[in-house]
Amino acid sequence: MHCKDIQQQLKKFETTCRNLNLKVTHQRLEIFHQLLLADDHPTAEILHSRLAESLPTLSLDTVYRTLTTYEKHNLIRRIETKESHARYEIATTLHHHFICDDCGQVKDFFWPDFDTMPAPGTVAELGQIRRKNAVIHGICPECSKHNSE
Ligand SMILES: [Zn+2]
Ligand SMILES: [Zn+2]
Repeated sequence: MHCKDIQQQLKKFETTCRNLNLKVTHQRLEIFHQLLLADDHPTAEILHSRLAESLPTLSLDTVYRTLTTYEKHNLIRRIETKESHARYEIATTLHHHFICDDCGQVKDFFWPDFDTMPAPGTVAELGQIRRKNAVIHGICPECSKHNSE
């Protein structure tokens, strides 16, 4: 993402928070900022360590709580992986995830056919659909290269 886009996204985010009556502290804003800069779906721990230098007083607990709040308000998305720690990303355009079972890397991909495909009728009995996401598990090219060596 370009610098200008980042600034615009941050402004938009602040406005959204104000409309939601969410308190925007410097720390909270920096957590969102750091997630905007990331393209690797970081965990709370990773975000915390990336912010350690600029925000030495930031606690991991604050990162957890902030991410939970953002997620509750659909500002960010939580990605469940096989790992014990959830990964996060900014809630932007609809996309899906490829997860490498070896290294745990999470990559984005688009799947318009899936997006427009109606869910089976049985899902309606289970509840109202908010969004549907596909997760594909596999082995990334780097890992398969590594495995065959
Ligand atoms: Zn891999
Ligand atoms: Zn993603």
